[in-house]
Amino acid sequence: MPTQDLILLAMDASPTLDLMVKAFNASEFEVAIVHDQAGLDKSVQQSTPALMIVGEFFNGEDGFSVSTGILERFPTMPIILYAEKDTPGLAQHVIKTGISGYLHPPLKMEDIVNEVRRTLTRARKLGDWLRREVRRTTASLEQKAQISEAERGKLEAIISNIQDGVLVLDESHRILMANKTVYEIFSLNGSPILGRYLKDVIPNADLSALIDRARNGALKYHEINFDDGRVYNAQYTPLPRIGSAVTMQDISYLKEIDRLKNDFIHTVSHDLRSPLTSVLGYMELIERVGPLNESQHEFLGRLRAGVHHMTSLVNELLDLGRLESGFDTRRETVDLKNVLEYSLNVFDNQIKKKNLQMTCEFSENLKPLRANPIRIRQMIDNLVGNAIKYTPDGGAVKLNLSMQEGQIVFRVTDSGPGIPPDEQNRVFEKFFRASNRPNDVEGSGLGLAIVKSIVESHQGRVWVESKVGVGSTFIVLLPMHE
Ligand code: ADP
Repeated sequence: MPTQDLILLAMDASPTLDLMVKAFNASEFEVAIVHDQAGLDKSVQQSTPALMIVGEFFNGEDGFSVSTGILERFPTMPIILYAEKDTPGLAQHVIKTGISGYLHPPLKMEDIVNEVRRTLTRARKLGDWLRREVRRTTASLEQKAQISEAERGKLEAIISNIQDGVLVLDESHRILMANKTVYEIFSLNGSPILGRYLKDVIPNADLSALIDRARNGALKYHEINFDDGRVYNAQYTPLPRIGSAVTMQDISYLKEIDRLKNDFIHTVSHDLRSPLTSVLGYMELIERVGPLNESQHEFLGRLRAGVHHMTSLVNELLDLGRLESGFDTRRETVDLKNVLEYSLNVFDNQIKKKNLQMTCEFSENLKPLRANPIRIRQMIDNLVGNAIKYTPDGGAVKLNLSMQEGQIVFRVTDSGPGIPPDEQNRVFEKFFRASNRPNDVEGSGLGLAIVKSIVESHQGRVWVESKVGVGSTFIVLLPMHE
């Protein structure tokens, strides 16, 4: 036999209450009566009524507030309010409170039972709909969870099998994830590294340098060199709300090709030097062995300029070779301000000839640097020389030397033609000359490659910020701890 629906009456004693009890007893409902708030709370909790009828005045309290209290805890509970009389605004108040219906005298038993049946039917429909919605939402959530689990699995398989090393760190540099390649790169032999601090389990100086400097925004790439000749290009990417990721590609073969190319250039340059010296020598002799006519003089002059140009190219190539081979280890105390002033003296004529507006700024706290003075002079000459060379007549060149966070910062700003964005990194490559440079400006395309090698041999960094038609700023950072 199906259990009967329980109707809970929260009403003060009255003839209407008696009438209601009689009506429910005569129909399919069970009935329970409470006369105060405590009884009401207990009954609602324990006997789970199907519907409640609350008196407009209940044990000295307002029936509307009593109903609101119930609905806050049981939002789907059907409640009928019994009002002593129908007043204007009663229906509106009932709707606003979220009460399902209301009764008021005159009442017959069948009015009471009919209203209760109607309200229960409506409540059941609402309940069914809610259950269906919950089932539908749960099913769709489960499906989504399954999809995202499958996606996660796929992603994990991809990350763990790709050839590049992928390392994910949290904000305090504990390892959150490392793929197979990372274990191979650092010969970790499957030792447990997850959850541990990077510096404890992978104490690699190049990797630490990348992470330390990347955090300050100074560096995004760094080469990781191993004693066995392997070289990896490591790239740092900040991951918001996670920490960071470091990806590593094996570039050993590119380095090897680069080394072979450099060896070749070095050998050729070396072999060219002696014949060039003898060509120059014989050219000097030609003039001594007999008189030359005007044309011969002119041709000889052109030959001499050509041979000088070739000689300086060969010397620059040899220089680069020496720098790249890492033999350049001479270190002395260098006063950068002095070096810069000497360099400017050399360019004085050109500055005047081009009518350039030169400005120099030196910060007070400049400290001497441990460096190779000849190389530093070469670096400054190249950068200042380029600024003067590429800036049109009447333009401006600004030099600035300062100290920031233990690093020397040297900036050379000019109002020259600028460098197109996609070529800004390439100007540091050997023989690269930007597409928008004025045609009449001579050069070999080696100056900035030499600058880069010098700066890197002092553990520094150089880059350019430039806007076509506005000018360029070359920036050099040199760490003091060198
Ligand atoms: P180059 O002998 O051609 O000057 P560099 O290696 O010194 O060789 O410079 C490479 C290229 O970078 C130059 O050919 C030029 O296109 C560009 N460049 C260098 N410095 C500047 C500058 N201050 N303003 C504009 N372009 C520059």
